Amino acid sequence: MRIGIIGGGQLGMFLALQAYEMGHESIVYDCKADCCAKTIASKFYLGSFDDEEKLEEFAKECDVITYEFENINSAIVKKLATKYPILQKEHPLVIASSRYNERMMANKLQIRQPRWQLIKNKVDLKKIELNYPYLLKSISLGYDGKGQYLIKEANDLEQVSFNNKVEYLAEEMITFDYEMSLIAIRSLTNEYAIYEPFYNIHHQGILNITLIDEDIPTKVVTQAKEAIQKIMDQEAIYGILCCEFFVKDDVVYFNEMACRPHNSGHITMDTHYVSQYENHLRALLGLPLGTTAIKTNGFMVNVLGQDTKQLTTYLSDNYAYSKYYDYHKEPRDNRKIGHLVVFDKNKLNYFKKEWR
Ligand code: AMP
Repeated sequence: MRIGIIGGGQLGMFLALQAYEMGHESIVYDCKADCCAKTIASKFYLGSFDDEEKLEEFAKECDVITYEFENINSAIVKKLATKYPILQKEHPLVIASSRYNERMMANKLQIRQPRWQLIKNKVDLKKIELNYPYLLKSISLGYDGKGQYLIKEANDLEQVSFNNKVEYLAEEMITFDYEMSLIAIRSLTNEYAIYEPFYNIHHQGILNITLIDEDIPTKVVTQAKEAIQKIMDQEAIYGILCCEFFVKDDVVYFNEMACRPHNSGHITMDTHYVSQYENHLRALLGLPLGTTAIKTNGFMVNVLGQDTKQLTTYLSDNYAYSKYYDYHKEPRDNRKIGHLVVFDKNKLNYFKKEWR
């Protein structure tokens, strides 16, 4: 089979590697000639995510098509999905590419989330009814804490820019006990596979460490699993879905969703029998889903551009129980350039206290 992947970042690279392992070819489409999935793909298309003609040229060659990020032109995907096998269709993209759409969906499905208000312009800033501190988050193209302002007092609103017609959500700050992500896969035959939650530690809005097999209370896990299943059922989502949650006093608050493999789920390649990538491809290829059981324990650390020196030092002493994945990316501050899986839990304190 020829598996088309729209997007050629590290998620696309791991999908392409997985496709190869399963005996398939991958055709990757990206707007950057040096994207990291390019060298892994059997064939590569260079084009803008708004270029309908080029995308159609790519789509014609594929037996199954998926995507690895959300900011693709959903109107084009909708059109192409009527002629080509984009089985997940455009609807998950429409929700996941807009914080407003995510919040409206959670309201509709009665999934608990932080209180929020839509802020379209400067006048709306005066109507915010949330207590300080709260967050202002740009509705689209915001990830890893980008496009976010922490508003501690009225003066902080002066820095908020409405250039390029950007709109925001004002959002209640949840003083959470911890954050977690949940990854679920739904096959075209309505089989579900849901991994146990990943316990995530962020640093300045960016995922830093992911732990598996933490003692998360059953009632917390149940709330999260019910929420993700409701989203998949009610919104007709197939393939992979990841939801991020805040947990406070054992109550789960929905933060956001991703209809693609997720950064926290990289760890499944090493710690689970069947990874998020394999289960997603199995779902799209009509194969039975694989177990979500853990094979071995470990934790994952994201490596950013500024971490290269520290990474070299760490690996020189600790390579035996660590595995490093390099994304072949130019190191830049706060850019994810690789991840590390560590099979020795004794090292966790080092990463919590001294890494970065
Ligand atoms: P996001 O881009 O929405 O995932 O936000 C990045 C990070 O900012 C999250 O992982 C949290 O650590 C923090 N954050 C975002 N929204 C909230 C919120 N409403 N309350 C508390 N922390 C938040």
